[in-house]
Amino acid sequence: MNDVDVVVVGAGSAGLAAAKTLRAAGLSFVVLEAMNRIGGRAWTTTEHFGVPFDIGCAWLHAADRNPYFDDARAAGWTLYHHDMNVDHLYFGKRQATEDEEAAMRIADLHLSDLVERHTGTDDRVSSLLASGHLARAAATFAGPMDFGKDYDEISVADFKSAADLDPNYITKEGFGALVARFGADVPVELSTPVRRIRWDAPGVACETDRGSVRARAVIVTASPAVLAFEEIDFTPDLPDSHVKAFFDLPMGMLTKLPVEVRGTRLGLEPFDDLLVERRAQHDIYFLCFPFDLDLMVGFVGGDFAWEMSAAGVEAGIDFVSDRLCDIFGNDLRKRIGRATMTNWAGERWVRGAYAAARPGQAGARAVLSEPVANRIFFAGEHLAGPLIQTCAGARLSGEAVARQVISALSPDHSL
Ligand SMILES: Cc1cc2nc3c(=O)[nH]c(=O)nc-3n(C[C@H](O)[C@H](O)[C@H](O)COP(=O)(O)OP(=O)(O)OC[C@H]3O[C@@H](n4cnc5c(N)ncnc54)[C@H](O)[C@@H]3O)c2cc1C
Repeated sequence: MNDVDVVVVGAGSAGLAAAKTLRAAGLSFVVLEAMNRIGGRAWTTTEHFGVPFDIGCAWLHAADRNPYFDDARAAGWTLYHHDMNVDHLYFGKRQATEDEEAAMRIADLHLSDLVERHTGTDDRVSSLLASGHLARAAATFAGPMDFGKDYDEISVADFKSAADLDPNYITKEGFGALVARFGADVPVELSTPVRRIRWDAPGVACETDRGSVRARAVIVTASPAVLAFEEIDFTPDLPDSHVKAFFDLPMGMLTKLPVEVRGTRLGLEPFDDLLVERRAQHDIYFLCFPFDLDLMVGFVGGDFAWEMSAAGVEAGIDFVSDRLCDIFGNDLRKRIGRATMTNWAGERWVRGAYAAARPGQAGARAVLSEPVANRIFFAGEHLAGPLIQTCAGARLSGEAVARQVISALSPDHSL
């Protein structure tokens, strides 16, 4: 591999965007990707249901600031505006009363208010829930289903820094396919994990099983979990502050359990949101029949989602089928067809869904945003400001960091 101005580690949303920004500025670069495909956590496949299904990101959040939304519109893709409010609430097998549903909506607003006004020293969202007497279901939506973490593991400050993600859209063709389309013209070295980054001489040297490439700077877009696991060895060691930040930004988890339901809509409308509250710990949310497909897409989050990944795909499918039969009756079982479970926990090059700061450690994101020696830069969803955890945020982070690198490499700045 030839020497270049910049090595980009990772061809997910952030890496692809960084590469395109470098190219527009006339810098030479190489993108090294560990997996055998581009997109990272953005991945659409037709393998399970014969129609596009997003294994990773699916919602185009914050569509008014989301460049992928403009791409989808320009490409003439099918877009659906989804309000994401709970339409049907169950407590285990029992449907919630209208009063209980109303209480959940009020609790949701109350929680936002408590987050906004929070001033105490306890930075855990669970402290707000304890003080606010909130309905448990609201906690589920704030915690496991949204941040991918149980609410005692979410920092209020971190939660507060995340933007309201309205308006939300879904595209029938798949968000992963949209990212793949965005990155299709970017040259990427696939199946080429970076094992070591040396920065003991001027510039950097990125070592892979296929050889080494030297550059003036590197943009690392691997998740903080991949970095905490030391999949990339930095020689010499990175400053302690950066290493600590990897550990202060552990990954949350979201596991999808899509199930084919044939020949009935169960009295539900396409895109209805159905939440089954099970003590706010084993809750499951369903996106019902998106685009009128024969699919109920289950989601579990937080600790339960890690547990589900460990239990395996068969256990996951049984769990989701049983919960549907709890509600809609055992006759439904014969209408259940193909099903699967996503496994981001087992994806070596990601190791989770998206990062969330530990309580008291929301500042870790700012630490990682600082380059090391003006030649090792970090980018990705975990460094995406108000759009943390989102695919659009990853893209904007990749672009912004690439601009920082362009400026650092300009003749006015010596490295
Ligand atoms: C189940 C799930 C649902 C989600 N839902 C949504 C949603 O609805 N809407 C939304 O906006 N976001 C959602 N997200 C989050 C979104 O997918 C991510 O925020 C975004 O895709 C992250 O992009 P990235 O470029 O930061 O990281 P990644 O996509 O992880 O890209 C990093 C890349 O680096 C590669 N890599 C890692 N280590 C190395 C190495 N050593 N050498 C070379 N390459 C390496 C990885 O293989 C990967 O391709 C979801 C995520 C998951 C998992």
